[in-house]
Amino acid sequence: MEIDFEALKKFYNFDMELIALAQQAIENVKEIFEKIDRVKSHNQLKILNAFHKNKLSYTHLNKTDGYGYSDSGRDVIERIYSDVFGCEDSLVRIQFISGTQAISTMLFGILRPGDLLLSICGKPYDTLQKVIGIKGGGCGSLLEFGVRYEEVELKEDNFDYDKIENLLKRQKVKAVFIQRSRGYSLRGSVSIEKIKQITQFIKDISQDTIVMVDNCYGEFVEEKEPTEVGADLIAGSLIKNPGGTIASCGGYIAGRKDLVEMCADRLNTPGMGKEVGPSLGFNKEILQGLLFAPHIVSESLKVAVFAAYIMEKMGYEVFPRYDEHRTDIIQSIVFNNEEKLIRFCQGIQKGCPVDSNVLPEPWDMPGYSHKVIMAAGGFVQGTSLELSCDAPVREPFVAYLQGSSSFEIGVVGILKAIEMIRRM
Ligand SMILES: *Cc1c(COP(=O)(O)O)cnc(C)c1O
Repeated sequence: MEIDFEALKKFYNFDMELIALAQQAIENVKEIFEKIDRVKSHNQLKILNAFHKNKLSYTHLNKTDGYGYSDSGRDVIERIYSDVFGCEDSLVRIQFISGTQAISTMLFGILRPGDLLLSICGKPYDTLQKVIGIKGGGCGSLLEFGVRYEEVELKEDNFDYDKIENLLKRQKVKAVFIQRSRGYSLRGSVSIEKIKQITQFIKDISQDTIVMVDNCYGEFVEEKEPTEVGADLIAGSLIKNPGGTIASCGGYIAGRKDLVEMCADRLNTPGMGKEVGPSLGFNKEILQGLLFAPHIVSESLKVAVFAAYIMEKMGYEVFPRYDEHRTDIIQSIVFNNEEKLIRFCQGIQKGCPVDSNVLPEPWDMPGYSHKVIMAAGGFVQGTSLELSCDAPVREPFVAYLQGSSSFEIGVVGILKAIEMIRRM
């Protein structure tokens, strides 16, 4: 990765100390960047091959409206996604507002009254707690529909095999839920290798238990996806990794054919399944975004590594460390200080291509139980494969940094963020 440090100085006037720090970081992460490029190359070829195999043609970019019957472009997109995720079927729809809705659809699509859902990564992502019924009431959670829920905490950043075995032997578990990425917590992300091992373990004890994965932020960070190592169903957001910063909205569910169909019945309406759903002209964005995704994910990973190196050098605790194995694009930085956290996010905003002139403030975001500050200045509202940094404003005041459609944008954002906290 070559960076024009003179241009960095010329256009942004960073002081020599900051530039030297950036130079040192880039010098020391070369090998890690090479590894990131190899994974990118693998995933880029995998995706291109899926385009070729499914004979994507220009006419597939046409739009449908109304019911969306016979949307050949939408069907090709779903075949391409199935090939990329190495599974039987998929549901890739602009009608999903967000990752939360895709995951919620996966849960409501599969679980029935009396079923037991078991989370094996501890508490799921904040917005899913209301979906399950761990928090809040009266909004039609799984709990209100009679779905039971239990959770097992992670143990030393791996699954608690003993507890999981006990639970699976004691009662019938309909579905196990795994969250690949760290979410707003300081735990590690779950690697594909660990997902492979636990899935095999679960299936050996209870063959019928469905393994579901919240795949948000994980796509194309490793060479394989959860569905390629035994998971039955995955879900995620198109305004994160697989949308490649190009998709304006949408989400996906992929996996076993019978299960994907159940999810389609839940998303659309019982009996209509995958046959309906107009693409309204968004096929182009979804396809182009997917094609670009491995590259943008690799740029984001480089920004994360760069940030980890530089922030650790400045004395902050970071997760993961710059040279640790990654399975999501998130970089956590611990500030232990509310003011610093807020100023850091505000500095990141200054590096974003859109809205660089506004100062983000913490606010009560729907679905979250703490105030959240979000630095985000991309071309799609809330997109977090573009440079963004968000944080629930609570102890120990951790910033979650992710994205950037190019490495340079991330570098400028991070250096501006450091300027903001250095002045304190
Ligand atoms: C982003 C995310 C989600 C879904 O969030 P949305 O903002 O609704 O897309 C779910 N789980 C994890 C781990 C996430 O990072």
